[in-house]
Amino acid sequence: MRYHAGGAKLHCPCCQNDTFTKDYRQLNSRGATFFGLDWANRNATILVCERCSHIAWFMQEPSELRN
Ligand SMILES: [Zn+2]
Repeated sequence: MRYHAGGAKLHCPCCQNDTFTKDYRQLNSRGATFFGLDWANRNATILVCERCSHIAWFMQEPSELRN
C-alpha cells in the first residue's frame, strides 16, 4: 500500500520504495503512568518498507493513497 502524510507521498528514505505495510506500536515509556504522563502512552503508526524493512514512525496516521 502507498501512503501520504502532510500532503506528500511517502518514499522510503533508504531505498526510495513507495510501498509500506502499516502497523501500530505503543509509545510505551516505563513509569510514565506513575508520573502522570499518560499522554506518553499513545499509539504511534509505523510504516514498514516492503523492500528494505526500514520503519518510519508517525504520530498521526498517514492516509492510504488510492490510485
Ligand atoms: Zn526501503
